[in-house]
Amino acid sequence: MLANRNKKIKPSPTLAFDAKAKEMKASGIDVISFAVGEPDYDTPNHIKEAAIKAINEGFTKYTPAAGIVELKDAIIDKFKRDNNLTYDRTQIVVSCGAKHSLYNIAQALYGPGDEVIIPAPYWVSYPDQVLLNDATPVILPTKAEDNFLIAPEALEKLVTKKTKAIILNYPSNPTGLTYDKKVLSDIAEIAVKHGIYIVSDEIYEKLVFDGLKHTSIASISEEVKKLTIVVNGPSKTYSMTGWRIGYAAGDVNIMKAMANIQSQSTSNPCSISQKAAVTALNGPQDFIDVMVVEFDRRRRFLVDELNSIEGMTCLKPQGAFYAFPDIKRFLGKSAGNKVIKDSSDLCNYLLEVGKVALVPGSAFGTEGFIRMSYATSMEKIIEGMKRIKSALKELK
Ligand SMILES: *Cc1c(COP(=O)(O)O)cnc(C)c1O
Repeated sequence: MLANRNKKIKPSPTLAFDAKAKEMKASGIDVISFAVGEPDYDTPNHIKEAAIKAINEGFTKYTPAAGIVELKDAIIDKFKRDNNLTYDRTQIVVSCGAKHSLYNIAQALYGPGDEVIIPAPYWVSYPDQVLLNDATPVILPTKAEDNFLIAPEALEKLVTKKTKAIILNYPSNPTGLTYDKKVLSDIAEIAVKHGIYIVSDEIYEKLVFDGLKHTSIASISEEVKKLTIVVNGPSKTYSMTGWRIGYAAGDVNIMKAMANIQSQSTSNPCSISQKAAVTALNGPQDFIDVMVVEFDRRRRFLVDELNSIEGMTCLKPQGAFYAFPDIKRFLGKSAGNKVIKDSSDLCNYLLEVGKVALVPGSAFGTEGFIRMSYATSMEKIIEGMKRIKSALKELK
């Protein structure tokens, strides 16, 4: 018999849709995937070289569980440089990806009886990581009409004595929208008033458009900083998803707990990847600008295309590499004798008939939308949009 907790969770739906598309591709079907959650760029050469050097120099053994000093220092410098945040080495834990950082936080902070507020649309793993630790996710729905921003009154209404934390993600996967200083200040005020931790997933901080400047909620005040655990990592910024490095920064006692948990589970993150991450953070950053310019070009094209489809509306993403169009007008329509009831039906239809892979909004706790990643070439976006348009035209 499996442990009870297994009944509470499901496999990551984004990975599942991507796997389905890959399976179709492997069987010879020409599928265009907009389901991926990673940049379509290769890791820059200077970062690869650092890893090769680490291997050649024999840096292939266990490291301290919470990460090597050199990487912690590079992370400390990054926080100072980009976010005006000051941490010392005891306040940093390096893990095997930001997802792992978030999981360690969940293990360190959430337990039976605790409630964790998660604004929706949310990144797929947040509720399941809360559930895996026998705590309760409390979903705070937000609306496209409000740019998916958090209404402070709605947030405060959900706060109870059991509220342990709120998980924020900006720029957001799946909406591509982000929070400005005003919204962050409002959330911070509520967190401080009630003594709630803020888990701030800022993995897309560098992938922002239109000259936007990212603000970390931890930088709003010393009081907020004490309650905030900032999560970040090189996966998206440096196209390093396979290297599995992520990090968290915050209160010493929480970091100590996370380091202990890690020392009893995974031990250190990969030694070679840690060396690569040092070079990513300390080395030239111009690669990011090149990637952002290209993402921006695709974003503008894609959003115009989506909005040109009758019945579809899409907000202009401010960051990350996702568009999150409203597809409610297509629900209730039929393909042959099959009625498209929800976003999942629509994604299945578009995959089977249009040969285009997308992720349903329901995976992110928000029905009536689909997520489209534009971390794929312009040619594929052009061809994919043609397919989507013609498949949607077939719906009656
Ligand atoms: C991709 C992603 C992560 C996880 O990235 P890692 O590869 O585990 O570092 C975390 N949060 C969000 C919102 C993401 O999209």
